[in-house]
Amino acid sequence: MKFATKLLHGRSGIDAATGASSIPIYQASTFHQFDLDKPGLFDYARSGNPTRQALEEAIAVLEGGARGFAFASGMAAISSVFMLFSTGDHLIVAEDVYGGTFRFLTRILSRLGIDVTFVDTTRLEQVAAAIQPRTKAIYLETPSNPTLKVTDIAACCRLAQAHGLLTIVDNTFLTPYYQRPIELGADIVVHSATKFIGGHSDVVAGLVVARDEAIGEQLYFIQNGMGAVLGVQDCWLVMRGLKTLKSRLDVSTRSAGKLAAWLESHPLVQKVYYTGLPSHEGHEVQNRQASGHGAVLSFDVGSREMAKALFDAVKLPIVAVSLGAVESILSYPAAMSHASMPADERARRGITDGLIRLSVGLEDVDDLIADLNQALVSAAAVCLAQR
Ligand SMILES: *Cc1c(COP(=O)(O)O)cnc(C)c1O
Repeated sequence: MKFATKLLHGRSGIDAATGASSIPIYQASTFHQFDLDKPGLFDYARSGNPTRQALEEAIAVLEGGARGFAFASGMAAISSVFMLFSTGDHLIVAEDVYGGTFRFLTRILSRLGIDVTFVDTTRLEQVAAAIQPRTKAIYLETPSNPTLKVTDIAACCRLAQAHGLLTIVDNTFLTPYYQRPIELGADIVVHSATKFIGGHSDVVAGLVVARDEAIGEQLYFIQNGMGAVLGVQDCWLVMRGLKTLKSRLDVSTRSAGKLAAWLESHPLVQKVYYTGLPSHEGHEVQNRQASGHGAVLSFDVGSREMAKALFDAVKLPIVAVSLGAVESILSYPAAMSHASMPADERARRGITDGLIRLSVGLEDVDDLIADLNQALVSAAAVCLAQR
């Protein structure tokens, strides 16, 4: 089956028990045991619930893995995966991982005596140089946020395998529609399903997929033992969002490509980051390992004043943290997602005071272009008047 068909006719399609066209919300915390000698499929809902199981099987199929797991948030998923490791272990992590992942690793996991080296994973030699005898895993996020740096997943996986390390990939930005890390050699895929998979800015959720049963069993033990499971109503919402993942991404990605090209030629824009642009550093690797460029792009308007005036003038996109929704979302990394990073470190990573991130939604792209154009022109006028 092709991806579009899998979205609708996989495990989250009809309910096997009743034929219901959407998986029912089994709002039950416990399950009657009809025979004490023959335990039923389900006993207690932290350990398993049919609604959650349907979502977990659906994401496993889409990512091409053996087992899927649904968690209460992307961070619940990510932090649970890191519970695979023990005191004394060492991890290699992409230097521009999601801020919440960085905070978890440096402020919480570090207390358990698990060390992390952050490297630029787009440079394989830096990853190789960071490997120590106690290294256990490489953790990647590609494309990264907000300058969309692309890491060669297959090359990192080969390096990891040669040293007996696990490779974990945060696939939030592209989803299995465009990128399937397990096919490229990864062992574990993590998602913030709050973003494109949920897709409607109405649910916080996380997903994990394990390549094989052995890793799946370890992750199941952690999921049940730590208990950060996704509630059944939210499981249903994620399955509801998942059904239209391809249709939404087809439209948003086409619009993002058009917007990126338009912004790149705009006199008031200094730089555009979008992997679909041939000018982007990661363009070729991205073309090799993913079938699309996704719906997130960033652009630099040169100064904090310009950025602020643009946020004041723009009418269509909502201004918010988060991404991957039906509505376009503008965010300001320097003061939102990367506010806690020292200014010089931000500058080194291209996260300047003029950088704006745009997650493209389903609005008509011509309306988005017109709105951004009026906002850029009016921002320039405001800045000129202030001088
Ligand atoms: C949002 C996000 C997360 C965290 O997910 P939550 O659902 O907010 O907990 C992790 N990784 C990436 C790339 C994200 O964008």
